Amino acid sequence: MIFKSINPYTLETFLEHQLDSDNQVDRKLSLANSAYLKWKSTPFEHRSECLMKAASIFRRDKEIVAQMITAEMGKIIGESRAEVEKSASNLEFYAQNAASYLEDTVVDMGLYKSVISYDAIGTVFAIMPWNYPIWQVLRYVAPCLMSGNTTILKHAPNVLGCAKLIEKIFLEAGIPEGVFQNVFIDVPQVERVIAHDSIQLVTLTGSEMAGSSVASLAGKHIKKSILELGGSDAFIVLADANIEKAVQVAVNSRMMNAGQACICAKRFIVEEAVSEEFTQLFQQKISQLSQGNPLDENTNLGPLARIDLANQLKNQLNESINQGANLIFGGKQDNCNFTPTLVTNVSENNPVFQQESFGPLAAITSCKNQTEAVQMANNHRYGLATAIWTADLEKAYQLARQIESGNVFVNSLVRSDSRISFGGVKKSGYGRELGILGIRELTNVKSIIIE
Ligand code: NDP
Repeated sequence: MIFKSINPYTLETFLEHQLDSDNQVDRKLSLANSAYLKWKSTPFEHRSECLMKAASIFRRDKEIVAQMITAEMGKIIGESRAEVEKSASNLEFYAQNAASYLEDTVVDMGLYKSVISYDAIGTVFAIMPWNYPIWQVLRYVAPCLMSGNTTILKHAPNVLGCAKLIEKIFLEAGIPEGVFQNVFIDVPQVERVIAHDSIQLVTLTGSEMAGSSVASLAGKHIKKSILELGGSDAFIVLADANIEKAVQVAVNSRMMNAGQACICAKRFIVEEAVSEEFTQLFQQKISQLSQGNPLDENTNLGPLARIDLANQLKNQLNESINQGANLIFGGKQDNCNFTPTLVTNVSENNPVFQQESFGPLAAITSCKNQTEAVQMANNHRYGLATAIWTADLEKAYQLARQIESGNVFVNSLVRSDSRISFGGVKKSGYGRELGILGIRELTNVKSIIIE
């Protein structure tokens, strides 16, 4: 069996990758363990130099990496370049902040010394998705390596070209062999890795099903897990909001990465008084999007990453229309290409409200008032992020406190940021990435008490 990199726009296979045998996987795990014993004892300054060097190589090779992202999963080239930039910045951020984030926390117990230390934990096994093939990896790798851990990555099979570039750049940056390694394995080999003694923690970004399966295995082998799973983020628009600006950000939030992000806005919950205006402006803006070749600088909507994902979205749309949603715009699929699509009259029982829609499909639901808006937003199995649009910032804060999600953004685009924690509640997963919590999550939080 081999994995293939298939360009979703041209449907050409342009790279093939051999699977690792069980013996190869075992050798990589042993190497990760021996590398860990040395890497964890290196000073912060050394790790920091390595990550800064890696960041500069990512910037130097930005075009090569961006072209690989676009070829493997169809992201428009400008967004691919931005992804490389953001990933390089995350390496620099943790290179600069890890030492202070991991300083002992002193607890006053009236003793000679009582502190909480944040020590390296071992080798971290990561299972990552294809939608941000560089960012999703560097988001966990930067804090992981800065805290003295080593890591093994099982990347999604359609973006193994990206996985190989990451490993190559880390080696060139002077990060010792074994500190970061790819494994090229299929799902049945995952337990072999999780069960290995050197693995102490498993982190997964992906679907709810993948999360549930991996967390079960982690539980079986008593390994900590971190899950960053799906979302069906609510985008609440109240009547006093700046509608023009809200629509602009709404379209951006739904259509970026061709709608394939866990934090894309998916359920637009709009107060009745402004619902028609919001819908009309939304339709106007998506009708101006230019869809096509992701390598063309003028394209602003590329293909979906795989045909099965486009088919899945089409089925979800048909089912939603059958159950009462009104198709206002778009709804056409040609292989991986899916036109920007808008449906209205979406009830809380409709599939496009209840499930995660992973593509350029926006669903608008009207609500009577802010209380109903919050109820609708919370009436969901997922709880990743929520946007609230209103001119009243104090009211926004009170509403934000009532929202059941890991992140709330008011009057701005929901996004991840190295400085602040990111993660979900409910079926969106558990654990936090980024910021100070994101690095401590990857450590052995140890209490040291000296009487
Ligand atoms: P998956 O969750 O299946 O894939 C993400 C990663 O998890 C891949 O590396 C995949 O590897 C791995 N994986 C999947 N199942 C298992 C398992 N049982 N054990 C170990 N690893 C596993 O996502 P898909 O690509 O199939 O996309 C399906 C849907 O998932 C999307 O439509 C979207 O709704 C959601 N999704 C959400 C993402 C997010 O950012 N939250 C990212 C990607 C998808 P392999 O392909 O080899 O199975």
